Amino acid sequence: MAERTGSESRKLLGRLREALAEDSAGQARLDNVTHLIADSMGTEVCSIYLFRDSETLELCATEGLNPEAVHQTRMRVGEGLVGRVAKTSRIVNTADAPSAKGFRYMPETGEEIYSSFCGVPIQRLGENLGVLVVQSKEARDYLADEIYGLEVVAMVLAEMTELGAFIGDNAAMGALHQQSVLFQGACAQEGAAEGHVWLHEPRVVVTNPIADDPDAELQRLHDATDQLRVGVDRMLDGAAGGDKEQLQVLEAYRMFANSKGWMRRMEQDISQGLSAEAAVEKEQNTARTRMEQVTDAYLRDRLHDLDDLSNRLLRILTGQGAETGADLPADPILIARNIGPAELLEYGRNLKGIVLEEGSVGSHATIVARALAIPLVIHADRVTTEALNGDHIMVDGDAGSVHLRPDENVVTAFRDKMAMQAKAQERYASIRDKSATSLDGITIAMHMNAGLMADLPSLDGSGAEGVGLFRTELQFLIRNQMPKRMELAQLYSSVMDAARGKRVVFRTLDIGSDKVLPYMTAQDEPNPALGWRAIRVGLDKPGVMRMQLQALLRAANGRPLTVMFPFVAQSEEYFAAVAEMEKAKERERVLGHPLPETLELGAMLETPSLGFAPQKFFEEVGFLSIGGNDLKQFFFAADRENERVRKRYDTLNVSFLTFLEGIVNRCNSTTRQTPLSFCGEDAGRPIEAICLAAMGLRTLSMRPASIGPVKSLIRRTNLGELRQVIVDARERGDQSVRPAVMEYLRGPN
Ligand code: PEP
Ligand code: MG
Repeated sequence: MAERTGSESRKLLGRLREALAEDSAGQARLDNVTHLIADSMGTEVCSIYLFRDSETLELCATEGLNPEAVHQTRMRVGEGLVGRVAKTSRIVNTADAPSAKGFRYMPETGEEIYSSFCGVPIQRLGENLGVLVVQSKEARDYLADEIYGLEVVAMVLAEMTELGAFIGDNAAMGALHQQSVLFQGACAQEGAAEGHVWLHEPRVVVTNPIADDPDAELQRLHDATDQLRVGVDRMLDGAAGGDKEQLQVLEAYRMFANSKGWMRRMEQDISQGLSAEAAVEKEQNTARTRMEQVTDAYLRDRLHDLDDLSNRLLRILTGQGAETGADLPADPILIARNIGPAELLEYGRNLKGIVLEEGSVGSHATIVARALAIPLVIHADRVTTEALNGDHIMVDGDAGSVHLRPDENVVTAFRDKMAMQAKAQERYASIRDKSATSLDGITIAMHMNAGLMADLPSLDGSGAEGVGLFRTELQFLIRNQMPKRMELAQLYSSVMDAARGKRVVFRTLDIGSDKVLPYMTAQDEPNPALGWRAIRVGLDKPGVMRMQLQALLRAANGRPLTVMFPFVAQSEEYFAAVAEMEKAKERERVLGHPLPETLELGAMLETPSLGFAPQKFFEEVGFLSIGGNDLKQFFFAADRENERVRKRYDTLNVSFLTFLEGIVNRCNSTTRQTPLSFCGEDAGRPIEAICLAAMGLRTLSMRPASIGPVKSLIRRTNLGELRQVIVDARERGDQSVRPAVMEYLRGPN
């Protein structure tokens, strides 16, 4: 095979462009592409494997292997040489494939006669889309030039795959972003919303990866990098005299923006026939792959800088993205891969709906979405790839489905559903002032969870008796710096004002785990959920906790005050926190400030250990509130943010319910019947809520929108009978009582 030159590569890309521009079906395009590559490179075999699902690769086109194997041959990621390329994102180049590590012979392909193998990942922005393979009979290693040529082609294939050039019949390139698409994800917050797409981090779509005029592309690249450098210099000027760390980051940026190596590589890519934006992306891909592989934190940060600069450059070149000055639509539906609670709070109530590719039901971002009552669908695979800013979109939070660019029929059906939901809300409003009393006369106290001042109006609207959990960390998360004591005191005071005498349970700062304050040094912990969080931080670094306790006392200004401490794992932690409160009270007294009329202190039971605390603790703790979200994750050792394991364990699992029942019994066994409530998300799910009530819980705290549905079901349930159903299921040895409960609820009662 002749040594490849830039002009040969350009010739191949030129032929590819013609082939891709033809109005042919997706499969015909792919076949044509493999033929052209094999022909141009003088190899006997060229094959394209694409991901069929996240774990499986499929042979989608081949020149040289048995055509019958197309769409039949599949392998798991990591399996065989092709699977190894996909798994490691690294090129495999070998003269003797059958002896190479991990080789797996696929008899249906007829590949046994080919000795040499070269596989290159087809990647777009670090995401693996497939593998491009060439094989030949002659036992030879492919040369660096040839491999480079293959990488350039793989880059073009990645862009084309992304644009949907290889799917469907006669799929026109780019049509993917015009068709209507349905995504089936999972429900994280119910409700329906219609609006227009707002991409949290707009991605750039490259529609022209191949260019025929390298000089013009070089000029575009140089113009864009000049603009980029001016931008970075301007940022540096703006930051001069400011934060040292920020300056260091910007200096590193400038260094990269002027990096000759980076520039040279992109120029070389262009000389091979890529457009300027495809060249930027190719180098960005390399950086992303390295980013995943390096363990050195400093190097990773620098690669991150390069990634960020590449994004800026791409936006300059394509005119796409946030820098285009696009305005948030009036009815924004946020689309993101994932989002943190602080970022979500920045958007606040402006959002009509949220769709995430990742996310989890138990995450704090989800809790924020729930607090804001914004419909949220998680696990909508590939939605960030398919959605473009401004697209019409409908989110069905109940069904976990998302209609992007919906057609007429979907729009009509969806709007009907929204109208029906509005009617259901009206029904719940009619029982707002009635108590949650079961058919057999047991009344459950209904409280709401809150975390923002804006939640407080729901106190009247939902009919809640009080706020059973006020998550104070949300106020810390939305700021760029630590709030001052007086600011907090004012805020807590307004919360109490808005509650108009109803009880508000303020939970002290619960940070750590996924709740990272932007202005505190993040701890590099191997397992943050089991790490330095909540009361552990509060007791070890008492400055913030003291400031917060004082702000609460000041806010109460003589009114009754209720405070609870999160994540208490052993009784001493609670008693130490109580001692801190005593000190804070003393300080206030000395300063001559009024002390609360009554002060209730309690602990959150979020780790199984506290359920087994000494009797003294149960006797002395002011009240207990079960944080079911955390308790469940630690009870089952199943990360609340990891959907794969979270879903394995049902809240209505007999072991968990029995454990909860034990806590109820312990509270009831004390001389003064220690008050107990449940404030995890399960309290807001009607079926779970009635089972909690049947196990003896008499106070539930949930997001405001759940109060209507939960109350409505409690009022239609005989809790004594339900308890018997649960006890029977337990005696029978059922794993979860859910089937028995559902059958009972369906029955003629
Ligand atoms: C819980 O863990 O159930 C809880 C209410 O606290 P958070 O969800 O804020 O961790
Ligand atoms: Mg918790």
